[in-house]
Amino acid sequence: MLNKFRDPELCGKVLERLRAELSGGLRFMEVCGTHTVAIFQSGLRSLLPDEIVHLSGPGCPVCVTHESEVNAFLDLAGRDKVIMATFGDLMRVPGHQGRNLKKAQADGARVKVVYSPFDTIKLARENPGDLVVFIGVGFETTAPTIAATMMMAREQGVENLRVLCFHKTVPAALDVLLADEKAGIEAFILPGHVSAIIGLEPYKFIAEKYGRSAVITGFEPLDILQSLLQMVEWRNAGEAHVVNNYTRIVSDGGNAKAREIMYTVFAPSDALWRGIGLIPGSGLEIRPEWEQFDAMKEFGIVIKEVPPLPGCKCGDILKGIKRPDECPLFKKACTPANPVGPCMVSTEGSCAAYYKYKLD
Ligand code: SF4
Repeated sequence: MLNKFRDPELCGKVLERLRAELSGGLRFMEVCGTHTVAIFQSGLRSLLPDEIVHLSGPGCPVCVTHESEVNAFLDLAGRDKVIMATFGDLMRVPGHQGRNLKKAQADGARVKVVYSPFDTIKLARENPGDLVVFIGVGFETTAPTIAATMMMAREQGVENLRVLCFHKTVPAALDVLLADEKAGIEAFILPGHVSAIIGLEPYKFIAEKYGRSAVITGFEPLDILQSLLQMVEWRNAGEAHVVNNYTRIVSDGGNAKAREIMYTVFAPSDALWRGIGLIPGSGLEIRPEWEQFDAMKEFGIVIKEVPPLPGCKCGDILKGIKRPDECPLFKKACTPANPVGPCMVSTEGSCAAYYKYKLD
């Protein structure tokens, strides 16, 4: 079935229509790191007309993890009787003075890479004399699984598991990006995975408040081209709509069960985003009823503004104000082997994608 969405002939036809309809260009942002990679990997990036400006948004979980949050987990790593558990992509994210989890591990900190949050339950059981601290980053896609892990840990009487809750939620960030006219975003390709949880409703403000279009989109070339064509046609007609084109995976109502699990354990909170700053209502915090798992409370961690990494333009890139090649460190001081900022570390980061696909 997916072959249809990769068919070069069909894609060519949509591309032709897109070229014919395009007048005055289109400045669009894809919000999801997986779309960033899909657009580069499929070759779409070089096939799209020059007048289409492609911006990568704040949808890479590692990239938006705030400097203060990175410093907080680096400070915990290496503490006596603490085992840090994390997804692999956080291992090389730099904090201040070039520190990262990989270096902390080399210096003797106990850091374990896990493939699923549920692995932390086994880790906690195997190390009853230690506290296992899981670094919870990511959006509405990952938060329900971490909430379910905490529920399972409680059911099983596991008392030595904690979670550093740095989760973020997408819609409020899009509101902030649209309110900042510097980026001039005209249209959004909306994330497939996050939308599978939250559905269509939370994005409606994009058309109602800002008169911009946005489409929940799959990750195949035809998915992306069709959504772009639709948004160009609407703009030409003076219309703005928010629709779901990824109906083979996403239902308009999202996944109510996953949301119920997520909001049983977490409550909406304000959150600091790298490069964007404090966004009210854009994060999740552990509810008081679940505070036995709350590493922030356990260690008295306060997340606050700190100066950005010197020279790194990740913040402007995440807001759509700059492209990676406009950062003076890109491909010079900053490469995937020696990343200065998180946008070069994560495989979903736009600097890493620009580097890998040799676009500059
Ligand atoms: Fe930051 Fe490196 Fe990207 Fe520049 S190239 S914005 S230093 S990650």
